[in-house]
Amino acid sequence: MNRAIAIALLLAVGGLSIAVAAGRQDEERVVEVEQLEDNLYVLRGGGGNSAAFVTGGGVVLVDTKMPGWGQPLLDKIAELTSQPVSTIINTHTHFDHVGGNVEFPAAVEVVTHANTERLMQEWNDISGLNFAGENVFAASNGRGMPTRTFTDRLTLGSGADQVDLYHFGRGHTGGDAWVVFPALRYAHTGDMFAGKGMPLLDANNGGSGVDFPGTLRNAHRTLTAVDTYITGHSTQMAPDDLAEFADYVSEFVDAVRAARQAGRSVEEFAASWTPSARFSGYDAATEQRLQANAQIIYDELP
Ligand SMILES: [Zn+2]
Repeated sequence: MNRAIAIALLLAVGGLSIAVAAGRQDEERVVEVEQLEDNLYVLRGGGGNSAAFVTGGGVVLVDTKMPGWGQPLLDKIAELTSQPVSTIINTHTHFDHVGGNVEFPAAVEVVTHANTERLMQEWNDISGLNFAGENVFAASNGRGMPTRTFTDRLTLGSGADQVDLYHFGRGHTGGDAWVVFPALRYAHTGDMFAGKGMPLLDANNGGSGVDFPGTLRNAHRTLTAVDTYITGHSTQMAPDDLAEFADYVSEFVDAVRAARQAGRSVEEFAASWTPSARFSGYDAATEQRLQANAQIIYDELP
């Protein structure tokens, strides 16, 4: 696959920021810092949003962006704190969230959902894109792969340093982790909430359209002590935004279900679907994304 096509596909994964970053792949890789609290930062550029949580035992880093962005992340974090990165948490298997893992020291603990460990080994093509991105792990001899996994919930550290990992069910993939910093009342959603727009359903990697709204509502219902969500690719969001996004995905899934019951093709559905007025501020979904998602939901329904 040539670079231009790869970049066009990247744009479909997470949004414009990825395409911009990919376009300057051979140039300087700039990690942009947004400080949220004394010891919590969002690091933007080069793929999914990373979060750096500085604890007494080292930096807990959520997601490592695309391949080649691990060292720029390390360099930027070194400007923010003298603490080394002790732990990487990957929210899910996609290349724009795990790609930098191999560039960190081998002693760094890498924590993921158990399904994500398996998916990182399988490195399946992403649904709707028919490619998986560069598999940096194929050449790393296991470096950067998960060293610790969880299934439902896992707590790391305690007190001000505590990090809680949750899996609320299938959605974007089959191994999405929600990462909560309880002392600060923040959480990182990964691409379960990439931003206000049509999510990518990666059925090849265990994702589900039918389950997606329920998973979002499970998270919203459970995380009552979170005030601010760091999203996969957008700005920070409030709990009300998460609830609204669950409604948006639910409305979409219901519309797909109704179209299937009416005997319409996914092409017919995608050409005509628009969200209701309360979602007018959401990014418009491409017809390609609508078709791919509708097909996945058609295939899931009995
Ligand atoms: Zn993703």
